[in-house]
Amino acid sequence: MTIDQFNFAGHKAFVRVDFNVPLDEHYHITDDTRIRAAIPTLSRIIKDGGSVIIGSHLGRPKGVDVQFSLRHILTHVSELLGVPVQFADDCVSDEAVSMAGRLRAGEVLMLENLRFYAEEEGKPRGLKEDVTAEEKAAAKAAIKEAQALFTRKLASMADCYVNDAFGTAHRAHASTALIAAQFDRDHKMFGYLMEQEVRAVEKVMHQIERPFTAIMGGSKVSSKIEIIENLLGKVDNLILSGGMGYTFAKAAGGTVGKSLVEDDKLDLARDIVRKAKEQGVNLVLSVDAKIADRFDNDAQTRYSDIMTIPDEWEGLDIGPKTMALFRDVILQSKTILWNGPTGVFEMDNFSDGSRAVGEAIAEATAAGAFSLVGGGDSVACVNKFGQAEKMSYVSTGGGALLEAIEGKTLPGIAAIAG
Ligand code: AMP
Repeated sequence: MTIDQFNFAGHKAFVRVDFNVPLDEHYHITDDTRIRAAIPTLSRIIKDGGSVIIGSHLGRPKGVDVQFSLRHILTHVSELLGVPVQFADDCVSDEAVSMAGRLRAGEVLMLENLRFYAEEEGKPRGLKEDVTAEEKAAAKAAIKEAQALFTRKLASMADCYVNDAFGTAHRAHASTALIAAQFDRDHKMFGYLMEQEVRAVEKVMHQIERPFTAIMGGSKVSSKIEIIENLLGKVDNLILSGGMGYTFAKAAGGTVGKSLVEDDKLDLARDIVRKAKEQGVNLVLSVDAKIADRFDNDAQTRYSDIMTIPDEWEGLDIGPKTMALFRDVILQSKTILWNGPTGVFEMDNFSDGSRAVGEAIAEATAAGAFSLVGGGDSVACVNKFGQAEKMSYVSTGGGALLEAIEGKTLPGIAAIAG
């Protein structure tokens, strides 16, 4: 079933959204992108004359914790939706179930943070260090049983299920995946955001217009190795930058001073270089760096060849030669995936490389390329530089997007798509 085929009139929909937004110390929302992203789905159900039960998590509470209460965002959700939103203090209490039961056409109920219950994630909480293997197994079995009950309670509030939480689609949690089994195929569907995200991933994975270029950055090779290996089989150009560039430079015999290096990944880096060659992938590595005498925005800086960074200096961004090199490759591309900054973009003096990559992608996109930007930090980059509107698609998913691109099946997607 798709959301556009379904008429919600007279129906009650349980909608799993990802309202895991950042809050400041006064509990004010500092970035409401994720809430805005789910509004089209929620509005559509209301407009049809359906009623909505909103389920979400916020943060990583270890139990009931007012700091992570969804009450903090209630007024804002209501303002964005343009209708009053009721609130249930406990997501599966009898009161919550009866509030859901009383909802009339066009009415909306938001449930308290689903992760106040360990059942949402299905993992035992608060296990002592010294428990025996049997005790651990018993705790796991108990939480799985409790999770099944929790899932049925959530499902009992509604007669259809909509998943619009791409950010948690890689988790097999009660409300993101298990709950789908409680509804038949005609009563479960993706929301609009989820549909868009799935379409964007499909496009870079299966409907590739070539050349296809992936730009991977960020801090470490180790956290991106699976995706890098998977991309080697798909891309024409693979640009590797950010902190991991120094591991590659050292692996090739360079000296990199105090730059971020994973010494236990030098072989892995050589392996990637070899595999790229074997598979005919143009691996594009940094040739120069903006180096600093300390990890500070106000540090002394200069440019250096990446292979000869002096002792006591560290590379915190790519240099101008690398920017030009990356730009050339990006401008020749028809499909572009960007994950991870080229340097410590949070500091203004080391953000030029990331900005330049964003600019080149924006230019390529204007000339007809399809560009997908995803993963927390690259999204923060394009937002910071005002480039988000110039990309074909900016994903709301971090881990979920990377796992989808690694070729993994996401439980939240499989639960609906089969
Ligand atoms: P990741 O979470 O792996 O995508 O890494 C993102 C983080 O990597 C950002 O916070 C950047 O500041 C950091 N980063 C990128 N380049 C460097 C570098 N050359 N040295 C240290 N940190 C870096």
